[in-house]
Amino acid sequence: MQIANNRVVSIAYTLKDNDDNIIDQSDDGSFCYLHGASNIIPGLEDALAGKAAGDELSVSIPPEQGYGERDTGRIQSVPREMFPAEHDIEPGMQFHTQSPDGQMLVVTVAKVEDDLVTVDGNHPLAGVQLNFDVKIMDIREATAEELEHGHVHGPHEHHHD
Ligand SMILES: [Zn+2]
Repeated sequence: MQIANNRVVSIAYTLKDNDDNIIDQSDDGSFCYLHGASNIIPGLEDALAGKAAGDELSVSIPPEQGYGERDTGRIQSVPREMFPAEHDIEPGMQFHTQSPDGQMLVVTVAKVEDDLVTVDGNHPLAGVQLNFDVKIMDIREATAEELEHGHVHGPHEHHHD
């Protein structure tokens, strides 16, 4: 069986940046995704299409096929009082917020000055070249329920809120 739309694929992978730092790794085959459902970044999904179980590949994915370029327009300073007073605000913390057009957005605190917090709405991997070493572990047809939901269901009973 080959990787194609509407199939569930499990892979082992190592993801590195251009300086050979490991960004992410999953080597036990527990990472699964539904092919063709945009569960993973477009560059990786394209590279995996047509592969079979046991195949290995190395692929280098530019930001535009990954998490996008960094956009300095998504970095902004907001008053400290917009954050919960009971928490210390520190660089690296992440908050959910809404963009002006109503989209849910995750922002990362980049800098904290006296009354001003600089937040960055870019994905942490925006602007990063993504170098994947991938081994295809397993491929199976998705269930009707998985196709309806657009994601993989694990071996355990699955509920949605
Ligand atoms: Zn579901």
